Amino acid sequence: MIPTTAEIMKRRHTAVMVLRMMSLLFLFASALPLLSWMLEGMSDADLWDLDYYLGRITISVAALAIAAVCRFFDRPLSRWIVPIPSPECPSCGYSLEHLRHPRCPECGISLPGALTDTEVPPDEPPPPR
Ligand SMILES: [Zn+2]
Repeated sequence: MIPTTAEIMKRRHTAVMVLRMMSLLFLFASALPLLSWMLEGMSDADLWDLDYYLGRITISVAALAIAAVCRFFDRPLSRWIVPIPSPECPSCGYSLEHLRHPRCPECGISLPGALTDTEVPPDEPPPPR
């Protein structure tokens, strides 16, 4: 069955919440290598030996970038993760709204039953091909 608009919005809301949680996790994850750099650099007095600490800094910046993407692009990402299903034939693109039989009237391919309109009673015989 094709999900209703309310179901799609609920799934998108869940996706936004998951993305925001991921953003928080990556934000905390980005702080750990920086903290390690600061503590080790201060105790060994080589804080600005960037060649030595480049790996930690890179991991921290990458985690921070992922956190920023998850936070600031949460809504576009949720629309990408949970798309609105299109009622079109996957073969020819013909509109399948109010379809009574699981077969495309334009190109004739068999369609999954989920694409048929369940509110229309299936008492009418299928169209001839
Ligand atoms: Zn078709």
